[in-house]
Amino acid sequence: MEDKWAIKLTEEQYRICRQCGTEPPFKNKYWNCKESGIYHCICCDIPLFSSDAKFESGSGWPSFTSPISEDSISSIIDKSFGMTRIEVKCKNCDSHLGHVFDDGPKPNGLRYCINSASLSLTLDE
Ligand SMILES: [Zn+2]
Repeated sequence: MEDKWAIKLTEEQYRICRQCGTEPPFKNKYWNCKESGIYHCICCDIPLFSSDAKFESGSGWPSFTSPISEDSISSIIDKSFGMTRIEVKCKNCDSHLGHVFDDGPKPNGLRYCINSASLSLTLDE
């Protein structure tokens, strides 16, 4: 049962995090955010991404070169919509975050394309 999430989350957050939805590009909270801080999981609040790893990808979604820790993220092969993509989820609570692509900047070449609705930014002091 996922009802506890329906109580905790907004309808939009629930659709994205718990039903693998996607929010519109350029019309989400953090795509253009340049504040420094730590992005936490909106569902369980563990730290997932640092603003230090955030970059302007032009995609319209918040994009990161790497998570804070590989241990906080799980990657799953997603073959929906006739594409093969790597879905990324919060390892702690299984919340859908977004996808990871291999067209990111050097040196690691990864682009974590994450829904703003899956994240909650805590600003640095
Ligand atoms: Zn989580």
